[in-house]
Parts: sequence; structure tokens; C-alpha cells
Amino acid sequence: MMKGPKPLKQLQVAVPAQETPVDKFLTASGTFTDGDLRLNQKGMRLISEATESRQPDVKEEDMQFSLEDLETIKVIGKGSGGVVQLARHKWLGTLYALKGIQMNIQEAVRKQIVQELKINQASQCPHVVVCYHSFYHNGIIYLVLEYMDRGSLADIIKQVKTILEPYLAIVCKQVLKGLVYLHHERHVIHRDIKPSNLLVNHSGEIKITDFGVSAVLANSMGQRDTFVGTYNYMSPERISGSSYDYKSDIWSLGLVILECAIGRFPYIPSEQEEGCLSFYELLEAIVDQPPPSAPSDQFSPEFCSFISACLQKDPQERMSSLELLSHPFIKKFEDKDIGLAILVSSLDPPVNIPGDV
Ligand code: ATP
Ligand code: MG
Repeated sequence: MMKGPKPLKQLQVAVPAQETPVDKFLTASGTFTDGDLRLNQKGMRLISEATESRQPDVKEEDMQFSLEDLETIKVIGKGSGGVVQLARHKWLGTLYALKGIQMNIQEAVRKQIVQELKINQASQCPHVVVCYHSFYHNGIIYLVLEYMDRGSLADIIKQVKTILEPYLAIVCKQVLKGLVYLHHERHVIHRDIKPSNLLVNHSGEIKITDFGVSAVLANSMGQRDTFVGTYNYMSPERISGSSYDYKSDIWSLGLVILECAIGRFPYIPSEQEEGCLSFYELLEAIVDQPPPSAPSDQFSPEFCSFISACLQKDPQERMSSLELLSHPFIKKFEDKDIGLAILVSSLDPPVNIPGDV
């Protein structure tokens, strides 16, 4: 077994792949086209044949929203796929999170990207971050996202270290509703459930982000089958290269919730410094060791049972998002008048907006 201090975030597993020139799908005006989808500086359109035959001269200028209407205020965060900036609509004053992802698309992921853009545009779930528009400009795809003003669960646990069970039940319920939508209505696997992809706003709402297009684009930046990001929350079947399905997201959720409860990443022993597990140590721990569990002397039986229902190594034994929504842990706090707004209002906001009082 190889051991080393290499941080997980830097590890990439790459399979050489043939590049497909991006301009194969680009028109001279800088429009990315694929079937009925058009994406350029003016935005994204789905143009069905019927629409086109009725309105051959659909003016791109007619679109209400363009990239030029946005002014960027400051960088909110940086991920492996690109930069997220806080942006304001110049005329309306509305705030957005503008995520820019360098586009270096290869054949294998092209179809998937198109599919994801369509899903993104059609998303209608209060627990999934809305993507209002997408633009293509100078080799970068910009996603105009709903701005979640309290940052991510990662920002929250940096400040509070641990989150109490009643709050965790609310977090779980909201994330599960988002997962039910993605899994059962949209039939997509998120693939990257982790604290930085669960975003929070001042009303105490939790929403899932980075499903679909941004994850696909980020993963297509290097070479095919390159995974960019963290392996920490990957299910045993996925990290070991076996086939995986929706249940993979449930494993990730269980690990995230357990981390929020105990105040450290569950696979890292408390005495060890964070982030010191090499990929191989992590792989071995996830695949060969018994799954992590919530200590029964510190947590309620309902919470321990919820974590165990998520962290089953055999995906068949793992509960689905729909089943977990009616788990006793979720039900336990349902009638209590607890909101996450109280928790988030006591924390420092991740971004101070200039001009705000
Ligand atoms: P990785 O790229 O490795 O997956 P990441 O999820 O942190 O990591 P990004 O998705 O690029 O990377 O996001 C960077 C940061 O920007 C996030 O941690 C989050 O705090 C912030 N962020 C992303 N989207 C939004 C949004 N819609 N509203 C507010 N903040 C956001
Ligand atoms: Mg993210």
C-alpha cells in the first residue's frame, strides 16, 4: 500500500483521451450548438424545430437577460472547476452567483453537458439551486445561479464545528427533498454531495448545487474519466470502480451529516490532522473497513439509525431518498418549531456586500 501526505484534493486519476476541438460545435459568432440547444453570450435557448419554423428570425437581442447586464462585485469562492463571483444585475439590482467554468469539451461528455443544461433550465425544486441562465463567452461557460447568501454547509461547520441533532434533522429533510427530486423526478445522480455543495440562505433554506452541468464540465476539463474534486464522500462501490446508482448520493449524505454531528471527517481519527489521509488510505478505509457510525452514547437512537441507514456499504441495503424522508429521525423534529434561520443568523455571513448596512 502506498502512503504519503498528498492532499486528496490534488489527486487526479487520468485516462488519456482524444480531444475533440471545441470549435466543432461553435459557430463563427461564438455560439455553442448541439441539436436544439444554442448557447452563446446572449444566453441559452432551446429551439425546437416547430419553434424555428414558426419564427425563423428569433432575435437573440429579444432575450431579456445578457451577460453584459451583470456587474461582478467580488469573488465568493473558487473550486476546482472555476470561480464563483457575486454579481448584481445593473438595472434590477438582483444578486446572483456567477459561476464561470472553462470549457474544454470532449466528445464523450458533450451529449451529457447538453442534457444537463436542459435539466438545469427546467429545474423546479425549492431544494435545488436555481440556474437562471447560462452563457458562453470567450471559452467560458457562465452559469447565473441563485445567490445563497449564507454560503455552504462547509462555511457553517468551519464556524460552529458541530451542528445539533434538531438542526441536522432539518438539513437532512431539505437535502432529501432535493435528492428525491433529482433521483425520482429527474432521474439523475448528483455524484458530488459534499458540504460545499449544500448551500444555505438567510431564510434557513438548504439547497443542493453543482449537479449536472457544472460537475460534468469540471470533470471534462482535463481528460476523460478525470475526477476533479474530493474523493472523501465517495461511496465504496464508486471509489472502487464498480457500477453505482442513486444510492451513491445517500452514502455521501450520511457521511456529510455524520461529519456535521461529530465535528470532523469521519474517516480521520480525532487525533490526526485534517486532510492527511492519502487516496490509498481513504480507499482502503472506505472499501475494507466497517462503515463509520454515530457514537450511541452521544447521539439519539434515531440519529444513529439514520446514519446507519445511509452508511450501508452494500447499496442494496442502503435506504433511498424517499424512504429516508419518513425515517424516525426526520419525523422526530417535524412538529417542533425549529428553523435553520436561527442558526444561520447567529453566524458571520461568508460575504459582506459593499454598500450593505
Ligand atoms: P469543488 O470545485 O472542488 O467541487 P467547491 O464546491 O467549493 O469545490 P465551487 O462549486 O466552484 O467549488 O464553489 C466555490 C464556492 O463558492 C463554494 O464553496 C460556495 O461557498 C460558493 N458558491 C457556489 N455557488 C454559490 C451560490 N449559488 N451562492 C453562494 N455561494 C456559492
Ligand atoms: Mg461546488
